[in-house]
Order: sequence, then C-alpha cells, then structure tokens
Amino acid sequence: MVIEERIIMAGPPQRLTLTAPVRFAGMVSVGSVVSDFTVVDAGGWAGTSTSEVTTPAGPARRWTSDRVLSGNVIVRYRLPLTPFAQGGPPYGMKAAGFGVAGNSGSLLVLPELQGLRRSTLRWDLSRITSGSSGVIAGGTDMLIANGSPELLIDRWLMAGPLKAGQKRPGDRFNAYTLGAPPFDATAMMAWSRRVYTSLADTFGYLGKPRYLLAIRALDAPSFATGTTSIANGASLITVGSPTYLPGQDVERVKSTIAHEMTHNWVGQFGDRPAPWFNEGLTVYVSATLPCELGLREWSDCVNEIGKWANDYYGSQARNWTMDRIEATPFAHEDVRRVPYGRGMMYFANLDAQIRTVSNGRRTLLTALRPLFEERRAGQSLTMQRWEAWLKRERGPEAVASFRDTVLEGSMIVPAPNAFGDRLRAHPAHSTSGDRIYDGYEWQAN
Ligand SMILES: [Zn+2]
Repeated sequence: MVIEERIIMAGPPQRLTLTAPVRFAGMVSVGSVVSDFTVVDAGGWAGTSTSEVTTPAGPARRWTSDRVLSGNVIVRYRLPLTPFAQGGPPYGMKAAGFGVAGNSGSLLVLPELQGLRRSTLRWDLSRITSGSSGVIAGGTDMLIANGSPELLIDRWLMAGPLKAGQKRPGDRFNAYTLGAPPFDATAMMAWSRRVYTSLADTFGYLGKPRYLLAIRALDAPSFATGTTSIANGASLITVGSPTYLPGQDVERVKSTIAHEMTHNWVGQFGDRPAPWFNEGLTVYVSATLPCELGLREWSDCVNEIGKWANDYYGSQARNWTMDRIEATPFAHEDVRRVPYGRGMMYFANLDAQIRTVSNGRRTLLTALRPLFEERRAGQSLTMQRWEAWLKRERGPEAVASFRDTVLEGSMIVPAPNAFGDRLRAHPAHSTSGDRIYDGYEWQAN
C-alpha cells in the first residue's frame, strides 16, 4: 500500500521528524518495513535520515528531514501487506477479496509536530477495483479527528468491493463484508444487527451507539477470530474463504460476532486488567442473551457454555490466583482462557441469585446498570467500586465469596439454576489430553 500524508507546517521552518513503531501491537512490522520514503515541500525534495529510538510505546524508527521544511509538506511511503500466515490479533492489513482490511496502527508513520489541531484519514481508491468503497471505524469512509494524528491510530479499516449490510443511510449500526465468507454475508449482517439491537436494549445505558462491524474473508485458511475496539465502537471479524478452508463452523462465527459486540457494552474495568470482568461478563452475556432472545438455538448456547466451562474446569490453572494468571505470558492459551470461563461461571451464579431474590424482576444486567451509568459519567469502575456495589447488592458474604473464588481461585460450583431453567450442569469426569478432571456436562432441559 502507498500512504500519502499531507502535513501543514504553519510555524517557522523546522526539520520534520516522523516515527513509527517497529512493531504495532507487539506483532505487526511497521517501522522496519517502510520503503520508498519521500518528503517534498515547496522547495522540492528533501532527503531523510533514519534512527532507532525508544518511545513510551516501545522501539520505533524515526525519520528526520535533512533540511528545514515549511508550509504544505507531502510525505509518501510504501508498506507491504501483512502475510496471511501471521497469526494473533488481526491488526495487520491483509488482502481480502480484491481489497484490504486491518488496523490503522499498522500503517501510519506519524509526524512529531506540536499543535496539530485537525487530523483526517481518508481512502484513495482510484487504483483498486472499480466499485470499491472504504470504511474507517469512528467515521464513515473518512475520519476527521479534532487533534493530533495519534487519534487516527487503532482504527479498523476496510476497503474494496464491500458488501454493505445496512438498509438506510444514517443508521447507527453499520456492517460490511469483504471477500467471500463461508456464509450468506447479507443474512449474517442482518443477524448481527439484531444482536446489536438486543445488546443496546438490554444493557440500556448507551442508547443506540454508533457501531461498525467489519467482516473480512481472507483468501487463505483462517478460522473465525475477532478483535474489538471499544473506544471506537467497532470490531473486525476475520474468517477464511471456503475455497481455502471448507467446512467452517458458522455457529462459531456467530459466537465470535456476539462476543466482540458485547465487549462494547461490558467495557473496561478501570484500575487493573480484570479479565474475569472484561472477558468473563462478555462471555456470560454473549453465550446466553442471543438464545434468551431467540437469536440462536439453545443447543448452540449449551455447546458454547460447555466449551467455556471446560476451558476453566479443565485447565491446570483453574485454582490459580487471578494475579498468577495475569502474570502468565500471553502465549499460554490454556491459562489465559481461565478468566473467561471462571468469570462466566461467577456471573451465571450471580445472575441466578439476583433473579431469585427479586422473584425474577431483576437480572444481573439490570442490577449492574447503575455501575455502567456511573462509569459513563466518568467514574472509573475500580475494584473498590465493584466490591461496594456487590456488598450493596448481595451483602458482605458475597464480597468474601467473590474474592475467594474469582481472585483466589477456589472452584466455583454451578448453582442449580445458573443459566436459568434452560440447561443443567451434571458433575462428570472429563478428559483434557491425557488428564482426567472433575468438571461438568451441560445439557439443555
Ligand atoms: Zn473478548
């Protein structure tokens, strides 16, 4: 891809410096793979020299012009697309169906200029297949940010012959698909819109927020993965084209889409990573709400709940403290998955308790709404505020039990009415590889 930056240097002439991380999000090469770097102002071409520097975000490369520049400056450079084979979170720009999709952070070399008041990101699609369009999270086909160009980072981008899912211009929910996914894209995007509406209505506190769902089908073997960007109300779902990976599980795609969109409402715990909340509540809601509202079959939710529960009960880390789990390197998938299942089980039990004591008038989400409203008004959701809420809701023993199970690692036993009356957990000996562990079998009622 060729990136062109038009920078207005309004102050006195000065040397221009620009930086890019050597790797964005710790994985996508940026600074070290930029080529054909050119800088031009009214005085003509300017040479640049490069140096390796360390920024607060990590190792970076810096370009410095070899003379002072002023006025309108054009910087151009070329970046290769990210190879299909690169795994992990989908930040790199990858080719999909005669287009590209990925994250702006893997593209941008940013000027280090004080006082830039407005930054705009837009597509130039004149050299790709006709009929193409582009989308950018937080905007539409372009993004205008009032402030420095750092505001343009960490945006999902997609351009090419996009299939649009929205019916009406001005919709708050927008979905686009690029490439040939292993499902009917129009139907999947319509289903996603119904999930969006249910999340907005059930959580309530955000109204109908602007949301972008971008689905890219790579011309390569790729199982469904998703990554969300809460600050920008958007997620990118990656699937493989059926030519390269036949027989992909469409239920897995639905579960991924529901999971990533749910993150938008669950949001972030404020003062620590807290995967038991950020992921655990997301898993609990996305594995139950679509079935409660008839958007998926209960048998599919039972399978999904069973999978997450097994990731917890079947893990070597099921009794580890949350601190120890969080300190474990990201690559230990078996450990990293525990907070998802542990959190899901914790919230399932808590929801059952709240429904029982209120005779079904209240649910976990109605009880949590004041906490979400406070966070939206600027109060960070800290451990202190969480435990104060829990104490008000369920008393001091609930706080002790939360610490004992979620934080310290004592095993969570499913309440008989966890997940309502739609499914039951039966104690069972399960196997994981060559290990046998005490877990549960999940059956629909
Ligand atoms: Zn997640």
